[in-house]
Amino acid sequence: MKASVIEQFGGSLILKDVPVPEPKPGEVLMRVRACAVDQFDLRIRDGKVPHAKVPLILGHEVAGEVAAVGAGVMDWKIGQRVTSTLYLTCGKCRKCQTGRETICENFIGYLGIQTPGGYAEYTVVPAVNLVALPETLSFTDASVIANAIGTPYHAFTKRMRLQAGERVIITGAGGGVGMHAIQLARMMGAFVMAVDIGQAKVDAARAQGADVAVDAAQTDFAEAAREWTNGEGVEAVLELVCGATIPTSLKALGKGGRIVIVGHHGGSPFTVEGSQMVANEWEILGSRNVSKRELAEVVALVSAGRVRPVVTGTYPLEEAETLLKRIDHREVIGRVVLEI
Ligand SMILES: [Zn+2]
Repeated sequence: MKASVIEQFGGSLILKDVPVPEPKPGEVLMRVRACAVDQFDLRIRDGKVPHAKVPLILGHEVAGEVAAVGAGVMDWKIGQRVTSTLYLTCGKCRKCQTGRETICENFIGYLGIQTPGGYAEYTVVPAVNLVALPETLSFTDASVIANAIGTPYHAFTKRMRLQAGERVIITGAGGGVGMHAIQLARMMGAFVMAVDIGQAKVDAARAQGADVAVDAAQTDFAEAAREWTNGEGVEAVLELVCGATIPTSLKALGKGGRIVIVGHHGGSPFTVEGSQMVANEWEILGSRNVSKRELAEVVALVSAGRVRPVVTGTYPLEEAETLLKRIDHREVIGRVVLEI
């Protein structure tokens, strides 16, 4: 099969012929039809992600068809259209068994790091990770669901518990996750202030339906938020940036406010006064990706047209290296997908 392979960290991806992998017991061989590409792939390629080993095939956001099943896999048939959650988990611990597998006690790793990923014609995925796709959903659109839509879905529904009528700030709103977060928050009946840097990203956020879009390089978004809420402050913040933005997010947060941290750059330490936490009954929470059950819910929302995947470019596998370079040079807005 054709695959785009990292042979050396920091080096270019190389298109090669490699053997088709064999599914082990409990695994499924997927004929990859689409694989979304993101910033995380760049960090892996550059050797900045622990436990990654070369040679490696990138790609953790996949959609395709079941091509073969390993021993013991009863519930998937050849030809079925599927996507997959991103994480490799134990399936046995208390967290896994209660639908919180993204915080598995025995977390194994990621597709495309601990296993050869989807920058290839075939990849192997644990059967327990798979979610069925309806015929009406294209593989390209489906490939961005697990990460770019699933991540904010879990954050809003399970962690933030966002309510209709609430006002929410989304930092980093012009990125791939941010743009879908705007759509989801609007779908849930919330009002959205989108925050990003630069006109292109602010425009992208506005195009997804943000009620207000603020360029943080020009405007203090805490002041803008206070003005927007008649001095009250917002009910919630979805942090897709964290380090640079969280001091301002705290200033924008009203009484009873919740901050949910999804994206962060490095350690991103910040300080918050205990007295303010108490006086305002603030909640500061973390949120990690999406469970399989939630992914099935998001697939249903997307198929019903309630959320629209924003795919801004599609490329053949041969152009994977060019695409990573474009991401590295910040020439990509939204999500881009390899069609294989
Ligand atoms: Zn587990």
